[in-house]
Amino acid sequence: MVSLISTKEELFNEIGKYIKNQESLDLIEKAYSYAYEKHKDQKRSSGEPYFVHVLNVAYELAKLKTDPNTICAGLLHDVIEDCGVEKEEFVEEFGEEIYEMVEAVTKISNLKFTDEKEYQAVNHRKILIAMAKDVRVILVKLVDRLHNMRTLEYLPEVKQKRIAKETLDVYAPIAHRLGIAEIKNELEDLSFYYLDNEKYHEIARLVESKKSERDKQIEIMIQDISIVLKMHNIPFRIFGRSKHLYSINKKMVTKNKRFDEILDLLAIRIVTETELNCYEVLGYIHAVYRPIPGRLKDYIAMPKMNMYQSLHTTIVGPDGRIYEVQIRTEEMDEIAERGIAAHWSYKEGNKRSQKDLQNELQWLKAFEENSEADAKEFMNDITHDVFNANIYCMTPRGRVIDLAAGATPIDFAYRIHTEVGNQTVGALVNGVLVPLNTPLKTGDVVELRTNKNSTPSEDWLKIVKTNHARNKIKAYFQKKEMEDKETFIKNGENLLKEEIRKHDLDLDEYYDMKKLDRVAGTFQLTNANDLLYAIGCKSMAPIAVVEKLTKLGKKEVDLSLLERIAKKNSARNQFVSKTGIVVTGINSMKIALSPCCSPVYGDDVKGFVSKGQGIKVHRSDCPNIANERRLIDIQWDPDKPDIKYETSVKIFSKDRSYLLTDLVTVVAQFKANLTAVNSVANNEDLTATTSLSFMVTDKEHLENIMANLRKVESVISVERAIK
Ligand code: MN
Repeated sequence: MVSLISTKEELFNEIGKYIKNQESLDLIEKAYSYAYEKHKDQKRSSGEPYFVHVLNVAYELAKLKTDPNTICAGLLHDVIEDCGVEKEEFVEEFGEEIYEMVEAVTKISNLKFTDEKEYQAVNHRKILIAMAKDVRVILVKLVDRLHNMRTLEYLPEVKQKRIAKETLDVYAPIAHRLGIAEIKNELEDLSFYYLDNEKYHEIARLVESKKSERDKQIEIMIQDISIVLKMHNIPFRIFGRSKHLYSINKKMVTKNKRFDEILDLLAIRIVTETELNCYEVLGYIHAVYRPIPGRLKDYIAMPKMNMYQSLHTTIVGPDGRIYEVQIRTEEMDEIAERGIAAHWSYKEGNKRSQKDLQNELQWLKAFEENSEADAKEFMNDITHDVFNANIYCMTPRGRVIDLAAGATPIDFAYRIHTEVGNQTVGALVNGVLVPLNTPLKTGDVVELRTNKNSTPSEDWLKIVKTNHARNKIKAYFQKKEMEDKETFIKNGENLLKEEIRKHDLDLDEYYDMKKLDRVAGTFQLTNANDLLYAIGCKSMAPIAVVEKLTKLGKKEVDLSLLERIAKKNSARNQFVSKTGIVVTGINSMKIALSPCCSPVYGDDVKGFVSKGQGIKVHRSDCPNIANERRLIDIQWDPDKPDIKYETSVKIFSKDRSYLLTDLVTVVAQFKANLTAVNSVANNEDLTATTSLSFMVTDKEHLENIMANLRKVESVISVERAIK
């Protein structure tokens, strides 16, 4: 299967199979000559000319039928890094689009994770995908890695192991996620070869020893099935398939099975013309051979999330052996092997430019029309992981820190540690000193400069983008204020005592907390401490206090009990629940937001008191409380809690393709995490009703989202949902 090429002719033969346009061919030709010239004097570790690598990368891209620009990017993918070509020159020769792809490939190649302890493959994958932005960049990177793996033998063993491990942890899963089975399988087998050579050879030997026997069995079964299908005049190709070595090993390890048990599964694939043919073939096969119950899988009606489609069944052959049969169309077979690459195969004259792929959201669209559960899971995953405007930065030792888009070195610092944040004085991003308000980008390596004596600045509150950093900075100032307050109180105490002595008054009698509390009341202050604080920070003269104190002695003025209770109630006896709801006059109670109308912060709300269940918060216009009498007044705490509110909207629209994706995209753009999606199409009038549930900060956030949902094509109305 592995085919390495060494001539220009071989490359252009492959390209010529699907690219005929002379302009495109000229551009590729130009990239070819340019790369050839630039890499002319370079050699690979194998001793081969460096250009052979580039040639093979382009060849693999042509086999995946990528567009002309991607092939150019493949040819040119190492010229920035290895030949020092400047941006201006590159853009002049090949334009912005190809430059951006090559630049992204270069950046990804330079990702270094130096600290093994903090390294996580899942983060590496996320960063790689986020940095690529464009599926085509990932394709270039995958085939680049593929060729490097194929020629790994020339590197020292330590490097071989490191690269093989990274390939297995990062690149093979990405190939799998994109459904490119061909590349995934080869990457896995090559990694396996370098990581556990002994085991690799052991399994290879076992496979070889059983091969002729198995081939014979499969050959007989193939002929048997062929007769059945020919009888029914169905067009088909049929062949046996072998599992790749890595997957055999993995099954043996994870399922704890013997080699024989795994290899006993004989596998056959039938490729036919139409979807209907697939089901026909399945029917005829089941009519002749006994199927094993529970093994029939219909991935045509319910495709896997990487777009894989096929029918799977397991049958008992005439020889009593068990055969796994896959049935699919040519197109499905292509997608099974090449996944996303097959889906976007370049077709000349096709209106949809491959440049569209650069739009990250296109990436989601391909998955939307698949089975709902899988597609939803995939969308949530991708939107959350990559496109939820998150960025991924690294410490110099390779620890990955994910932050909100626009986050600054200060946000980064607080994520490392509160102390680090408080003491940050400067930051180096990718080795360059930058201002602390510089927005970070995915892939940036951030090194912080701290000073033990340094403290946060209040301006930082305007700079930071993450709530985490904001809260930490606020906490710092609150604590500082508390500490300052204590100093002022102490100061006030001294000043007042001095004033009392100055008037020859008895300190024990006049410096009395109960009396000071009362004096505080006459100045509209809460208590003695506030009074002392006012004196301490010079906003009140101590003499004024002493005057009141002397008057107190003569005419005791006490606040009436009622007055005091009223004051207490209004000022203190308010209960603020975790939901951000304030209820006056109670100490604690269970307060919950009602799921029927899902109120959010800022909505006009009423509390419904239910026996033993506390207070349920409804929107004032919720029909479920229209006739209720047990309603009480509640408010939102002006000091909004740092929580999100789950709410639902109902969208009524005309039905069309990609509608759901477009709606979900709006929600993602506003960073409101989706929690549920449900869409029902009405085939009679071609309308659809979609319910989306997501998390918002407040009413304004929600209204923004609703306004933008209304702008989506075909949407007729968007309303808050009532359950
Ligand atoms: Mn390369």
